[in-house]
Amino acid sequence: MKTIAILGSTGSIGTQTLDVVRANGDIRVAAVSAGKNVSLLERQIREFHPELACVWEERDARLLRERVADLPVKVVYGMEGLKEVAICEEAQILVTAIVGMIGIVPTIEAIKAGKDIALANKETLVTAGHLIMPLAKQCGVKILPVDSEHSAIFQCLNGERECGQDHGSLHKILLTASGGPFRGKSYEELKKVRVEDALKHPNWSMGQKITIDSATMVNKGLEVMEACWLFDVTPDQIQVVVQPQSIIHSMVQFVDGSVIAQLGTPDMRLPIQYALYYPRRRYLAGERLDFAKIGSITFENPDPETFLGLKYAFEAFAAGGSMTTVFNAANERAVSLFLHGRIGFTQIYDIIRYCMDHHSTIQNPDVAQILDTEKRVYEMIETKWPQSGIRS
Ligand code: NAD
Ligand code: MG
Repeated sequence: MKTIAILGSTGSIGTQTLDVVRANGDIRVAAVSAGKNVSLLERQIREFHPELACVWEERDARLLRERVADLPVKVVYGMEGLKEVAICEEAQILVTAIVGMIGIVPTIEAIKAGKDIALANKETLVTAGHLIMPLAKQCGVKILPVDSEHSAIFQCLNGERECGQDHGSLHKILLTASGGPFRGKSYEELKKVRVEDALKHPNWSMGQKITIDSATMVNKGLEVMEACWLFDVTPDQIQVVVQPQSIIHSMVQFVDGSVIAQLGTPDMRLPIQYALYYPRRRYLAGERLDFAKIGSITFENPDPETFLGLKYAFEAFAAGGSMTTVFNAANERAVSLFLHGRIGFTQIYDIIRYCMDHHSTIQNPDVAQILDTEKRVYEMIETKWPQSGIRS
């Protein structure tokens, strides 16, 4: 029986991972973790019987311990707790469904402990890909993409690997994007959008942070970087294509001009299940594509001059080193400020721009330098925008 541990089991990816576990019935969950949602975590513990559970704050750990006192589960907390979940002995796979670069340290610990990683937490690869990918190779660990686009690319490349071609046959990746809820809007119009509008993604139901990232197209920028690390390609080998219906999840163009695409309904359980059972496919209940009903699938170029998230991401990746951490950390903080109603939508771009302009890149940063860069970015934002009122 396969055994997994989950970082962020109460979120959108975490709960859908547990849906896949529930539907298949042959995966054991050894460890679960959440930020603050003690009630849902308690329900998950009662249903899946993990031996380890983690929350972020000590007081929530005390509360959870009381609530599950009748069960043989150990409750831990904080970063040490997340690390314990990551290296939990029984698990072979760690699902990184936590949001933000808080995932870096536990992911690295899991790789060192020989766990395969089902990776949803893209912020980790964006900021520490140069450490994680070589470490995974050295430890003989698989990084299995959960992000729908990267799972699609992974699936498109499957046959190539079996022919021993690996990625030698790959010409370019066509990374698809829905364009988000504000596709077609001008920059002036973006200035006036409200939080509730930004949280209405046209096709996917996801956590709040990634939903805002989709609206700014920062998400697509993060995904370009994620694809570079996962598939060992350069940004000029990636073309972002807007495909508003979210039916094509991404495509690969090969050296002979062939294009292979992966299509499906927008359902994250598919890439999650594919990662958990790779290289096998399993039955997955749900709606199937009906092409006659769909009628047409349309394509557009993205608009990086309006949706600056994409443009700045390419710039950050070209600068390399700690600049991708600056891009990511500035965005994480700016999204949080936007969600709290402290700044307007386009100020997310202003904050990223300001932080990137005021940073001298450190090439090849280690984990301590990455975390220090994150801290400095937060300090920079607090000094420049003191009225934002949110402290790190
Ligand atoms: P979410 O906000 O719904 O869930 C995040 C999870 O992380 C929750 O369980 C939360 O409790 C936990 N968490 C947050 N802060 C924590 C902390 N300090 N300590 C411990 N746990 C903490 O987010 P999501 O949408 O599920 O996204 C998770 C990751 O997957 C992100 O990196 C996102 O970019 C990526 N992703 C999500 C989707 C999607 O469909 N939701 C698709 C592709 C990639
Ligand atoms: Mg995606």
